[in-house]
Amino acid sequence: MNLLPELRLHRPETLDEAVRLKATLSGARFVNGGTDLLVNLRRGLGEPSDLIDLGAVADLASIRRVEGALWLGAGVTLDDLARHPEVLAHYPAVAHATLQVAGPNHRAAATLGGNLCQDTRCVFFNQSDWWRKGNGYCLKYKGDKCHVVVKSDRCYATYHGDIAPVLMVLGAEAVIATQGAARRAKIADLYREDGAAHLTLAPGEALAAVVLPSALGCRAGYAKMRERDAVDFPLVGIAAALQRDGDRIGELRVAVTGTNSAPLVVPTAELAGRPWDDSAASDLVAVLLKTGNPLKTTVVGAKYRRRVMRAIARQLIDRLWNEAAQAGGAAGA
Ligand code: FAD
Ligand code: SF4
Repeated sequence: MNLLPELRLHRPETLDEAVRLKATLSGARFVNGGTDLLVNLRRGLGEPSDLIDLGAVADLASIRRVEGALWLGAGVTLDDLARHPEVLAHYPAVAHATLQVAGPNHRAAATLGGNLCQDTRCVFFNQSDWWRKGNGYCLKYKGDKCHVVVKSDRCYATYHGDIAPVLMVLGAEAVIATQGAARRAKIADLYREDGAAHLTLAPGEALAAVVLPSALGCRAGYAKMRERDAVDFPLVGIAAALQRDGDRIGELRVAVTGTNSAPLVVPTAELAGRPWDDSAASDLVAVLLKTGNPLKTTVVGAKYRRRVMRAIARQLIDRLWNEAAQAGGAAGA
C-alpha cells in the first residue's frame, strides 16, 4: 500500500455545501466510511485533488418514516442499518444483505451510500501500482488495453455490492441531491454497464437517501456466494422478492450482482401466474444466464460463477416459495 496522495480534505456540515463543493472542484471525490475509496487510493487507483468527507453531514445519518415509506440516509453506517428495529421488522432482507458486507469492523465505518456507489472491481485492477505497471496497466486506468476482453473499447470490471440488488427487488428509490434540488430515481438507474464509469450520477450530484416503499406484500431474500465464508465480496449474489398467490407465482422480482459492471434486474414477468416448479426454475435460469455475464474479472473462473448463479437462484426461490406457503402467503421482506 502507498501513502495517500497529496490532497485537500473538506468537511462540509450540510449536503448543499457538499454538492456545491463537488460541482466546483473538478477532480474532487466524496468519501464517507472510506472502506472502498481509501483502499483504492492507497493502491494508486486515482489521484483526486480534493476529498469531500460526508461524515459531518448530520442529515445523511438518519433513518426515518416519511408518509409510510422508510428513508435510509446515505450516511447511515451498515452496522446501524442492519440493527435498526424498523429495518429488522419490515425489511429483514435488507438487514440480512447488509450483514453479508465485509466484516464487523468495516460495517462500523462503511455507509449505505458508499456501498451503493462503491467502485467496480477486477483482478487486473485491484492490485498494487507495481503489479499493474508490470502488466502495462489497463483501459480502466492509465493503460489502453483490457486484459479481460482483449479487443474491447470498454472496461468490464464488475460491480460487487451486496445491498443494491435487494433494494432493487423491493422497489426502493434513490434520492439524489444537487445544489438546492433533489430528484428520485430507481436504484437500477443509478448504474450503467461500463466498468470505468458505472454510476450515472452527474459530477455535482450526491446520493442523499434510499426510500423503501411501505407496503411490500412479498417475501424477499438475498443469497451470496463467496470464495470463503468470511470477509469477501460476492462471486455472485442473487436477490429475489416473491409474492405467492396460492399455488401460483403472483409476482417474482430477481436481481443479480457480482457478474456485470452494474447490478441488474432479471426479466421475470413471464413467470407470473405459473407454479414454481422445475419448468419455471429452468425458464428463470435461462433469463438469468442471458442477463448475468461473469467474465475473467475475479480469480474464480467465469464458468464456475455461472454455475453458482444458477444454483443459488434456485435455492433462494425454493426457500421463499416454501416460506410463503408456511406463512399462508403473508409478506415478510
Ligand atoms: P467510501 O469508501 O467512503 O466510498 C465509496 C465510493 O462511494 C467512493 O467513490 C465515494 O466517492 C462514493 N460515495 C460515498 N458516499 C457517497 C454519496 N453519498 N453520494 C455519492 N457518492 C458517494 N462491499 C460489499 O458490498 N460486499 C462485501 O462483501 C465487501 N467486502 C469488502 C471487503 C474488504 C476487505 C474491503 C476493503 C471492502 C469491502 N467492500 C464490500 C467494499 C466496501 O467496504 C463497502 O462497499 C462499503 O459499504 C463502502 O462504504 P464506505 O462508506 O466506506 O464508502
Ligand atoms: Fe482493466 Fe479490463 Fe479489468 Fe476493466 S475489465 S479493469 S479494463 S482489465
